[in-house]
Amino acid sequence: MELISDLNYCTDSLRRLVYETIAHTRALRLYHAVRCFQEPPPDSKFICYSCSSEREDPRSLSVLGECGHTTCKSCIERCQLHERCLLEGCSGTVHEYRIIKWTDLCHSKWHTPTDKLAKYGGSKFTAVIDLLEDTEKVPANDQVLLFIQFPELMEAASKALESASIPHTVIQPGDRTPTSKISEFQNGKESVKSKVLILNLGDVTASGL
Ligand SMILES: [Zn+2]
Ligand SMILES: [Zn+2]
Repeated sequence: MELISDLNYCTDSLRRLVYETIAHTRALRLYHAVRCFQEPPPDSKFICYSCSSEREDPRSLSVLGECGHTTCKSCIERCQLHERCLLEGCSGTVHEYRIIKWTDLCHSKWHTPTDKLAKYGGSKFTAVIDLLEDTEKVPANDQVLLFIQFPELMEAASKALESASIPHTVIQPGDRTPTSKISEFQNGKESVKSKVLILNLGDVTASGL
């Protein structure tokens, strides 16, 4: 009897380890894909994982947020239809809201090159900064919560706000001092009061606010 329960325990641990390994491998793949979208290394090849075709122009590429696989336009449409990644052996689910398009990350070499886009690292960040700087829409004394879905993009958002000299606070998932950061955000510290609090959409601290 004891042997069986020991074996069950071992199987459970192994299963947990397998899940963790898959999650970490996917997160790492996603990170590399996003970095490559932001700053493609010289001579990079743009290949769709699903159909293995090489793309001259990467603007039609997207990366799947769950498994981190990069796909071309026609493959992403098929993936959406099936709601899963079509690469053999990958069972990543595909949701519209977790698809990151090349054009969203907007590398200046491939996208409309304006100074602002390059400075803030993408059209979405530029739109956020434009909104924050518009005191008619966001009054000067108002504070803003910015929820970001992907932890990797929180860093990029923080850099964009820094370039625009907008004081802000970031609470990464797993942050050990979220409460003190939140109260600092609410009450201000020294002479600078944060305008924006960047939170992870899926993090518990975000829902606890
Ligand atoms: Zn493809
Ligand atoms: Zn996949």
